[in-house]
Amino acid sequence: MIVLVINAGSSSIKYQLLDVHTAQVLAKGGAERIGIEGSLIKHQRRAEEAVKILARMPDHRTAIKEVLAVLTSEDHGVIANMGEIDAVGHRVVHGGEKFSSSAIITAEVKQAIRACFRMAPLHNPPNMTGIEACEEAIPGVPQVAVFDTAFHQTMPGRAYMYALPYELYEKHGIRRYGFHGTSHRFVGQRAAQMLGKPIGETKIVTCHLGNGSSVAAIDGGRSVDTSMGMTPLAGICMGTRCGDIDPALVTMIMDREGLDMKGVDDLMNKKSGVAGVSGVSSDFRDLDEAMEQGNERAKLALEMFTYQCRKLIAAYAAAMGGVDAVVFTAGIGENNPYVRQGATEGLAFMGIAVDPEKNRVKGKEADISAEGATVRVFTIPTNEELAIAIETERLVSAR
Ligand code: AMP
Repeated sequence: MIVLVINAGSSSIKYQLLDVHTAQVLAKGGAERIGIEGSLIKHQRRAEEAVKILARMPDHRTAIKEVLAVLTSEDHGVIANMGEIDAVGHRVVHGGEKFSSSAIITAEVKQAIRACFRMAPLHNPPNMTGIEACEEAIPGVPQVAVFDTAFHQTMPGRAYMYALPYELYEKHGIRRYGFHGTSHRFVGQRAAQMLGKPIGETKIVTCHLGNGSSVAAIDGGRSVDTSMGMTPLAGICMGTRCGDIDPALVTMIMDREGLDMKGVDDLMNKKSGVAGVSGVSSDFRDLDEAMEQGNERAKLALEMFTYQCRKLIAAYAAAMGGVDAVVFTAGIGENNPYVRQGATEGLAFMGIAVDPEKNRVKGKEADISAEGATVRVFTIPTNEELAIAIETERLVSAR
């Protein structure tokens, strides 16, 4: 089955065309600067070099049409015509409490996604625009919404409730939802295979460490806790996001710095995290380099990140009453030995230790546990697009 995976943002649309049965990527790329001067498509066919194609894309509708034109074009195409696309899988950030799994898109599902706009005002509206643009461009092709939040809907109330007046939960749906669900599920399933056990018999802590980072506790294949919250600002500190802070600081900073709501929101989302602490960069490669050159604040930022990650690994092992495997994934988790070392340091008392030699691995699946450690530590490259394509195929085939 050929599945087109779409991840639509406010001014960009990322896409991948995959053959689900062979897990092969036929083409991938992104339409950028939609609605802005100088819009273009970056397109890569199989393992070929990426090309840049200039295209006028005033809106998402035109962008989807242009992407489809590239996919079927003589010069850069990989399919003869749009009829070869069997289904479209859309990444949708927030599914609220309505969606505990992916859903075939219908008028009702679209209505429910719209009802979640207020929970993710920056993400869900462009996701919906992507869906409608595809409906228009390739009518009749089944479309599936795969939600970042769905996997975490199995969390019990004790994990997802905030100790605020209960009415806020009832009135506004204020609770923990969690994100990166597609990735946590994907690497959790792979870890169970690597453990050689049915997933129902496993306890796994998954650390999705990228520009946005979250940790999840997966007990028997079900998410039972995760570090992001109602929004993706919570949990461990990230590239530019502050993660968990004393909630009283929000109004205190507004007062002391003379900021309004947008100002403090920007400060916490865009100017904080390891970038804010180090004053160097949000990119962990830059931080590693700065630390090696003796930059103390870069070192502090990295230590804060790994320390917070380590505390969560131990906390989630406690939440599950044990742990069989710890997984590191996403840009930092897959590629940064220093972070993996720091995030597991001192956990030998609970059977978690990495082998320094094996821990050198980058971007590959590996077991990096130290000999004799009772808990396995894995690096597993995440593949959210493939996970979305597999979900799409599963739902479409079951119709
Ligand atoms: P992501 O959001 O998953 O793309 O992750 C972005 C983060 O991963 C950045 O902080 C990068 O420093 C880090 N990263 C991505 N690729 C690599 C790599 N090949 N080597 C080291 N760090 C990487």
